[in-house]
Amino acid sequence: MRPAETPPTARRPRVLSGFRSTGPMHIGHLVGALDNWIRMQDTHECFFVICDWHALTSEYADTSRIKEYVEEMALDWLAAGLDPERCTLFVQSHVPEHAELHLLLSMIVPLAWLERVPTYKEQQQQIANRDLTTYGFLGYPVLQAADILLYRADTVPVGEDQLAHLELCREIARRFNSLYGPVFPEPQAKTTRVPRVPGTDGRKMSKSYGNAINLSDPIEETRQRILRMVTDPARTTRKDPGNPDICPVYDLHKAFSDQATLDRVNVECRRAGFGCIDCKTYLLEHLTPVLLPIQERRELLLQDRARVRGILADGARKAQIEARKTMHQVRAAMKIDTGGSR
Ligand code: SF4
Repeated sequence: MRPAETPPTARRPRVLSGFRSTGPMHIGHLVGALDNWIRMQDTHECFFVICDWHALTSEYADTSRIKEYVEEMALDWLAAGLDPERCTLFVQSHVPEHAELHLLLSMIVPLAWLERVPTYKEQQQQIANRDLTTYGFLGYPVLQAADILLYRADTVPVGEDQLAHLELCREIARRFNSLYGPVFPEPQAKTTRVPRVPGTDGRKMSKSYGNAINLSDPIEETRQRILRMVTDPARTTRKDPGNPDICPVYDLHKAFSDQATLDRVNVECRRAGFGCIDCKTYLLEHLTPVLLPIQERRELLLQDRARVRGILADGARKAQIEARKTMHQVRAAMKIDTGGSR
């Protein structure tokens, strides 16, 4: 009788995701990405990268705070619940293979592919106070493709606005594979439904608009800003009925409050059963318990910055093992492996 075969251990799908280190993480990042990343730690092999080189594509003229933002971002991620025992958390520039692969991929990417990326023109218009007509900014999606392909990621969690970048990454992988042989898998998009998280002025929450509620903002400051947040403009007095469907405060309720509160707001707002201050107070009752434990963990981490730096150094070592494997294959496929010691 043949011994029972042990089924091969299924490899967990590999995920890569990251953020540019251009400022603090806010509650939009929490519900839009971090919550999802925290869940994926148990189901995927996760690589999360703090993209300091990407930050330079728009912040190249003033680099004075990039280093500080890297550490702050690591603190925010760890405080939110990323666990270095269950994911690889690292800084892009600590793994120089990102730059090498970016350079090699840039040789094969037609300019027209980059010029047609929707965010290229949009961001040049929106970020009017910086000169973004640079080689680095145009090549942003190539660096992003290098980040993903370096780890041969199976899956990339993306929002709708990032789908074009991921499609370009897939095109770059196909072009490389057809020129030099199969090295890169084509990463798949993992889109998750993300609640809309408006800023305090009703526009999309963004650090560049100054309307963000940051994870690390003091609770009292957050309370004051929520209480001053714009609402349905039709409710000029307590007696005016409102429409939650057009109110940004209601969007925040949808992201943080329970169903009973949502139902209550939906009814009471429309019949002017309570005022906007009441409504915002109910929101704070749900938002504050989310923020407090994050801030408590952040405070502890702040007292041990050496540990945070150690976590990033360990993460870079783990990431580099995978990055080096890929670069060996890339150089061999391109026939530029000169037998050096890398
Ligand atoms: S009651 Fe709430 S949902 Fe209605 S307008 Fe005021 S803040 Fe917005």
